[in-house]
Amino acid sequence: MLIGLCGGICAGKSAIATYLIEEHRFRRISLARTASTPAVEKSASNAHVPTPKSDNDDGDASFPDVDALLDFVTLRWRERWVTTDIWDENVVDALMRRPFFLLVSVEAPVSVRWERFRSRCASHKLTPPILGEFVLRNDAHLYTPITGLAPLLHRAHVKLLNSTTSLTSLKTSLAALDLPNESRLRPSWDQYFMQLADLAAHRSNCMKRRVGCVLVREKRVISTGYNGTPRGLRNCNEGGCTRCNEGSHAGADLGTCLCLHAEENALLEAGRDRIREDSILYCNTCPCLTCTVKITQVGISEVVYNQAYSVDTKAASIFATAGVKLRQFSPVSSQELVPVRSSPHMCL
Ligand SMILES: [Zn+2]
Ligand SMILES: [Zn+2]
Ligand SMILES: [Zn+2]
Repeated sequence: MLIGLCGGICAGKSAIATYLIEEHRFRRISLARTASTPAVEKSASNAHVPTPKSDNDDGDASFPDVDALLDFVTLRWRERWVTTDIWDENVVDALMRRPFFLLVSVEAPVSVRWERFRSRCASHKLTPPILGEFVLRNDAHLYTPITGLAPLLHRAHVKLLNSTTSLTSLKTSLAALDLPNESRLRPSWDQYFMQLADLAAHRSNCMKRRVGCVLVREKRVISTGYNGTPRGLRNCNEGGCTRCNEGSHAGADLGTCLCLHAEENALLEAGRDRIREDSILYCNTCPCLTCTVKITQVGISEVVYNQAYSVDTKAASIFATAGVKLRQFSPVSSQELVPVRSSPHMCL
């Protein structure tokens, strides 16, 4: 796999790269700066401040452009590579196309990064900038049109907040995070179908909540559904259902609601004939009672849900009695925190 680390000045890219190299047998890979990229990590006086490197960095592979780097890694993607040379959007575009690449962004409060930068300057006998100068330098680094790195951070698969000032606590957090886990590169079936259910939920027009559902058999999608008023009627969010628009509490006055639930729509779409044994229903919200009995009646074997709903216990007991497996799936978070702070500040 190839991990790319991007982040603001002194956010902790090098510390994380060093951790991966020393603890997880990653090897550093370097990419030449492109002409359009401004030299980053300079002090306010424009003196270059070297980035800390690991002792184990000998034998780095370095490449003049991203295509050459990709040619190299494609043949060796089962080995572990890490780079902090995520220079611009073109580099990210090229890397993101490959299934072995994971983009990790690292952020930290500007005051913490300034302290780290001051320590780094001091260790190289350079005059550190004052906070105001550092902020201007930081703004240019992140927000200069075209070359600013901020848009790249938003594209990261994993987003880290590294506000710790202790290398030990950073390492502890990284160990728990398990960045080298290759399951981050490709979603599991559960993740895949739940993401499809989330996508379906975005089409919901019901004023009460967005629910999406995917019906699956033998790893193939049979049908999808989201909640809203039936065809031919005005959409719920355009006033189609009085009950939903009057702000009734969850589960109250359901008898007067015109909205079909996501599960009902998926079941109607699939039809009884296409739902056989081993069909699995993925739903971003645990089914309500009326959906639970319908799901049970059509012979679904398993229900996987993400968010809890108010009648979960009753639904669970109906499913248990009828022999329908019910389980909650919690997707891996792409937002990770390394929030421990202690003093003195360290240059990470
Ligand atoms: Zn509605
Ligand atoms: Zn309604
Ligand atoms: Zn329902």
